[in-house]
Amino acid sequence: MLNLNQQLRMETNRTIWHRGAHPSRVLQGRRPCAPTFAAGIAFVLLLFCALPASATTWTVTSQPTRLVNGAPVLFQVKPTTKLESLTGTWLGHKLTFSFDPSSKTWFALAGVSFETAPGSYTLELSGGRTASNSPLTFSRKFAVAAAIYPKIKVQLAVEKKFTEPSPEQLEQIEEAKKVKQEYLGRVTAEREWRGNFAAPVDAATSDVFGSQRIFNGVAQREHQGLDYRVPTGTPVTALNDGTVLLARFLYYEGNCVVIDHGQGLLTLFFHLSEFKVKEGDVVKRGQEIGLSGGTGRVTGPHLHVAVRWQGTYLDPARLFQLRLP
Ligand SMILES: [Zn+2]
Repeated sequence: MLNLNQQLRMETNRTIWHRGAHPSRVLQGRRPCAPTFAAGIAFVLLLFCALPASATTWTVTSQPTRLVNGAPVLFQVKPTTKLESLTGTWLGHKLTFSFDPSSKTWFALAGVSFETAPGSYTLELSGGRTASNSPLTFSRKFAVAAAIYPKIKVQLAVEKKFTEPSPEQLEQIEEAKKVKQEYLGRVTAEREWRGNFAAPVDAATSDVFGSQRIFNGVAQREHQGLDYRVPTGTPVTALNDGTVLLARFLYYEGNCVVIDHGQGLLTLFFHLSEFKVKEGDVVKRGQEIGLSGGTGRVTGPHLHVAVRWQGTYLDPARLFQLRLP
């Protein structure tokens, strides 16, 4: 695949050849003749044909334009030629783009994991054309900056069964772990989400994504979701269209609903007091999926919402800010 510099170099090369700037020097000592010149042209043509099909400049943008660790991102691609399909790779993840006919733009929702170090990362694209044509490729680098997440340590007190579980409780934890491993790794091919993601409750948040927490003096990993301070029994709604992947009790998560929005994008709701959906149900954005509560590892009733994309947790608040097709 050619990068832009190589393309420019080739353009330059071609210009020089066509200009025929120094034919006398090139052909010094030889009598310029038609067959040599024709062979030269043929060679250049062959060179162009033999090279893998590389796209001329495509317009590739990200929303938001400034990428940070922990953030979801919408990639939008406007190719110069008609494509049948578009796939990509980004930070080791596979992307499947959808076509928006109204803007003639391909789009895919992706993310930057919390652990991603600041730096420059390449989005590799491959556009499928009709069976007889080789795919068109294009790449663009995106800078990832470090997000500022709260450093304030939260001193929380939870029941001992969560910090010092008994052998029996460890068994339940192990069981829940197996369920999560089995379900949360699933990637369904079809995209089910459409348009913006909406908040699950109309309430203030009590803890943000990425904050460091301490339970009974033991430092835990960064907060992987968003907490809403809502009393038990508050209706909780789906953030977008999808299919209910999980609706069951898990040791730490309590009554937990997981919605699969397709292409590896899941939304998770913890500590519910009641389920309003069952596994396999198809849900729409804004549909009630359960009632908030204080089940599982909590210090008090609240709703924990998480966004998981292909195995990595992303900031739900940043997802709500995206304007999506
Ligand atoms: Zn939480």
